Amino acid sequence: MLHAGQIPDPFVGSRAVPLYQTTSYVFKSADEAAHLFELKQYGNIYSRISNPTTAVLEERVASLEGGTGAVAVASGMAAEFGTFMTLCSPGDHIVASNQLYGGSMTMLAHTFKKLGIEVTFVDPGNTDEWEPAIQKNTRALFVETIGNPINSIPDLSALGKISKYHTIPLVVDSTFATPYLCRPIEWGATIVTHSATKFIGGHGTSIGGIVVDSGDFDFSGFPTIADPSPSYHGMRFFDTFGHYAFLTKLRAETIRDTGACISPTNSFNLIQGLETLSVRMDRHVANALAVATFLEQHPKVQKVHYAGLESHPHHDRAKKYLPKGAGAVMSFELSDTLPNVRESGKNFIEGLELFSHLANVGDAKSLVIHPASTTHQQMSDEELIAGRITPGMIRLSIGLETTDDLLWDLDKALELA
Ligand code: PLP
Repeated sequence: MLHAGQIPDPFVGSRAVPLYQTTSYVFKSADEAAHLFELKQYGNIYSRISNPTTAVLEERVASLEGGTGAVAVASGMAAEFGTFMTLCSPGDHIVASNQLYGGSMTMLAHTFKKLGIEVTFVDPGNTDEWEPAIQKNTRALFVETIGNPINSIPDLSALGKISKYHTIPLVVDSTFATPYLCRPIEWGATIVTHSATKFIGGHGTSIGGIVVDSGDFDFSGFPTIADPSPSYHGMRFFDTFGHYAFLTKLRAETIRDTGACISPTNSFNLIQGLETLSVRMDRHVANALAVATFLEQHPKVQKVHYAGLESHPHHDRAKKYLPKGAGAVMSFELSDTLPNVRESGKNFIEGLELFSHLANVGDAKSLVIHPASTTHQQMSDEELIAGRITPGMIRLSIGLETTDDLLWDLDKALELA
């Protein structure tokens, strides 16, 4: 969190990570320029592809996740899009959880269809559904460590075994867990993605994403990574870069061509957040458990979806994969004995004072939203049912306020519900 990826520069001695707000880098010679473009020499050319401030963020998150390296990108969505664009070609197929962030769902179900990539959605909690969904052309398995928004916890180790057996990368969006609560690579994940916008930054100021590669997946026969690349005169990324092939292709081809780079200032801001990640996460999860316990006992609440509660169907998995706590994002349903649940939900959200009503999670400040009308609005009724999103569901992201203040705010708003 504090040291990986940075050696204080010996000339200036800056202890803080310097912000290199530059688009491009002066070449030392014509030969060096040519070698950099041919990927024969490592170095910076242009900040769409790499930047020294961003490199610190990349190395730090890779180190925390136990990966071989990382590529930071414009957003969490760019991290997912870039990963799948690097792994898939038109005609390929992905098996994905049906309980994902709404934006990930629409990208997979609709945008990828336009690109000729089909997706089969399965229950993340039911491992038995994954293997039968695999096809000859399946190029990725995709799941969230803590599923959005009902806190489903997949059996990562079982999915890791399926991934290895079929030689299909297991891609895990670990945004809600952060590397402090869970390191999916240790359980068999191939690639970990994050929306760094959330807990990694923690301040709600900067959008960013990151892709970490375990470096131990066998890409030697994997078409997009092993076959000749027409955009580099037929170079084979696996033959040339070995365990760094996926990340090099992601950086030097996919991000180069899609332009989904992170700004150096955002990398700098995200580094400031990352330095306190563990300290913040301990407080996030302690507050979240207190809030979930309070809500579960409240007469106006029907159900609380928080894997840290014993009543959650995946509580045992949470204890195994998230021993320090099940994150700080939860959802709950107001009691169906209330005369008008939708109206009660509205009154509850409007009655809150400390919780901000907005579309984000993982801020230092507590947040609230109604998924069915906002984050998951573009999903069909069928997709909503598969994702277990009910009209009366409310999602909370628990911040760093004192626990008593949070319970006071919730209690008061529930009175109005
Ligand atoms: N993954 C998860 C679990 C998310 O909650 C989000 C955003 O809400 C994303 C990915 C997308 O991240 P970003 O908003 O940084 O593009």
